Amino acid sequence: MKVLVAVKRVVDFNVKIRVRSDGSGVDTAGVKMSMNPFDEIAVEEAVRLKETGYVSEIFAVSIGPAQCKDTLRTALAMGADQGIHIETDEDLEPLAIAKILHNMAEKEDPDMFFLGKQAIDDDANQTAQMLAALLNWGQGTFASNIDFVEGGAQVVREIDGGLETIQLNLPCVISTDLRLNEPRYASLPNIMKAKKKPIETIALDDLGLDTAPRLNVLTVEEPVQRKAGQILTSVQDLAEKIKEAV
Ligand code: AMP
Repeated sequence: MKVLVAVKRVVDFNVKIRVRSDGSGVDTAGVKMSMNPFDEIAVEEAVRLKETGYVSEIFAVSIGPAQCKDTLRTALAMGADQGIHIETDEDLEPLAIAKILHNMAEKEDPDMFFLGKQAIDDDANQTAQMLAALLNWGQGTFASNIDFVEGGAQVVREIDGGLETIQLNLPCVISTDLRLNEPRYASLPNIMKAKKKPIETIALDDLGLDTAPRLNVLTVEEPVQRKAGQILTSVQDLAEKIKEAV
């Protein structure tokens, strides 16, 4: 079984983001970038499935600037077999990403396509759903468990107020939620081995796809700063504060 995993390079989740002074977007100059955390979970799941023998090949796909190769190297160090880098400096919307991944699925013919449930930079939570629609494959989004059963994959989904279990025919698209697994740290020997694993680079223009934006971002703003809290030492003080406030 072959799995494709989409891995996005995003601002590291520990970094406090800064908005550019002209409000045109987030400032990424000199900022630490990492693999989107939900995509780490997707890679980890694919690697675990390979270790248990369900999966034979894992291809990691990343779309973006030259530095996406570092993200792919991380996926290779975690256990993916090959990387595919679709190189572009354009800022692409989820529909454009889904079209590119659709193109990769047609080329590579995987049994499953794993994605994160959302990228922590745009928080769109759209790409997996759009990809499944373009491919006309079943989708198991927000997966917190994946099992293989006769005829396909059984996916437990995290939904409002509980868990939903669905069964999907293969090929299918699965997006990973936080509780699916805890991703491993790549060991030093695996980081060294990853340097020798192949990464294919394809220029976005060579795919001949319409990736033009559909949306116009008008402005990006920082959230309103929360006021500092106060520690009160008695119920009396609390009552006074409430009186002042009303
Ligand atoms: P989003 O719909 O933007 O929240 O992203 C959902 C998922 O789509 C991410 O977790 C990735 O698995 C995948 N994805 C989005 N953008 C990219 C990208 N530029 N390269 C590779 N995968 C991506």
